[in-house]
Amino acid sequence: MVRTIVKDVLFLRQKAEPATKADIGICMDLLDTLKANEAHCVGMAANMIGEKKAIIVVNMTFTNVIMNNPKIISKSKPFETEEGCLSLTGTRKTTRFTDIEVEYYDINWNKQRQKYTGWIAQIIQHECDHLDGIII
Ligand SMILES: [Zn+2]
Repeated sequence: MVRTIVKDVLFLRQKAEPATKADIGICMDLLDTLKANEAHCVGMAANMIGEKKAIIVVNMTFTNVIMNNPKIISKSKPFETEEGCLSLTGTRKTTRFTDIEVEYYDINWNKQRQKYTGWIAQIIQHECDHLDGIII
């Protein structure tokens, strides 16, 4: 189901709780909502559809990937950049890392550990910030 994008900053500043297997409905709604907004959105956190659960979806070009309880376990090569967000107007300056390694549970709850670089790594960092209640 395509959900409305939350723009309430007070809600978005709240931390997400750990996701469980029972949150599969939220995963499906995130996939649907990202698809509906794909012209101007490359990733989404559950907070943005009003669910305080640690789930993000990332557009990896060829497919949209769900990450339950993602944790960035290493990061290197910081750089300054400017980002926009579907929940905010305009763009803001932020520091990101070129290379990251992430641990997460995929949509079937298999534990994954992956390295990402560049653009995809940047999206993951932005969405993980949302889960911590951090908005750029
Ligand atoms: Zn955002």
